[in-house]
Amino acid sequence: MGIANADAKGVSNATPLSTFVYNSLQYRVVFGFGTVARLGDEAERLGIKRALVLTTHQQREEGARLGTRLGRRFAGIFSDATMHTPIEVTEAAIQVVEASDIDGLIAVGGGSTVGLGKALSLRTGLPQIALPTTYAGSEMTPILGETRGGIKTTQRSHDLVPDTVIYDVDLTFELPPRASAASGVNAIAHAVEALYAPTANPVISLMAEEGIAALGHALPRIVVTPSDKAARRDALYGAWLCGACLGAVEMSLHHKLCHVLGGSFDLPHAETHAIVLPHAIAYNAAAAPDAMARIARALDTPNAALGLYDLARRLQLPSGLSDIGMPESGIERAADIAVQNPYANPRPVDRASVRDLIARAYRGDPPLLQ
Ligand code: NAD
Repeated sequence: MGIANADAKGVSNATPLSTFVYNSLQYRVVFGFGTVARLGDEAERLGIKRALVLTTHQQREEGARLGTRLGRRFAGIFSDATMHTPIEVTEAAIQVVEASDIDGLIAVGGGSTVGLGKALSLRTGLPQIALPTTYAGSEMTPILGETRGGIKTTQRSHDLVPDTVIYDVDLTFELPPRASAASGVNAIAHAVEALYAPTANPVISLMAEEGIAALGHALPRIVVTPSDKAARRDALYGAWLCGACLGAVEMSLHHKLCHVLGGSFDLPHAETHAIVLPHAIAYNAAAAPDAMARIARALDTPNAALGLYDLARRLQLPSGLSDIGMPESGIERAADIAVQNPYANPRPVDRASVRDLIARAYRGDPPLLQ
């Protein structure tokens, strides 16, 4: 796919090669159907003898089932993982780690559970294995967001990256269609912003385009038939690639807006991304034509922003922030915060335009094509 527009030398001309820096992070990824059967071997490889399985309340049973695969290595389960990684939850988990002589962590779940694994590993130095069950991508990043007293802080460290990631497609079939759709578009957002990041590079751009294409084609099939094996496989493959993009390069206006909106109004993470993304793409379109061409090509659509908007409608996702609990009075406040310490962005960030973007996203309008 990456060489569809190859020039005479066989190099993709979608992104002109110029000076770039590429940091290759070390990841061990085990991917496929039934790969959870490898859990015992992977724990052994890391020298884990007493593993603590981490889950949310909702996925406790799943965690207990997977724990049995560890045999004598299964030392217990901690099922209080919570969105935005509150420090109090991490501290409670540390007490369990210490009381049960734990020497390894196994996170089974979405970004919330993987976040808890990272927070614990950071404080204890324990090895961690992640088994992702959503498409959020946290398992591929050296990033941890934590909350104390409602205030979120984010840090980056290579020590946060799970030692092993086991992607088992079978773990994703229970993710409901709407949650799958929102989580998948959340993943696409990572790849979209990787394509126009100031630190973009040709390797990550290849992964980004491939990730968008895999998810863009798989998600509509999942919404119709959640048990579609090939679609679930392709979506998880795309989520891996998009997560790797998030971990490798800087994010821009779209991620800044979602942090502001999620943090200020306690909006659901993945759905906020799905609603804002077409508007953020439209905002940046004229300043990032190569990225737009790649997004459009990946989605088989003439226009990147409209293509994403139409995809979200096909996936039956809510179209406006008003549908997911944002108050109309929040538009001005969000615009004020969004322009403070803006992330690097291809198009300069000005308050009037950002306010207009948020207002359109609030109402669920189509993106404004410039
Ligand atoms: P989540 O982990 O909060 O999961 C949402 C709900 O879905 C939970 O109740 C969970 O138990 C349930 N669930 C997960 N997988 C399921 C499955 N297969 N079947 C049935 N139910 C399932 O949601 P998320 O969107 O994956 O993660 C959001 C969090 O992750 C946010 O806090 C976000 O900030 C963080 N995040 C961090 C990074 C990073 O790089 N640090 C990246 C992406 C997301």
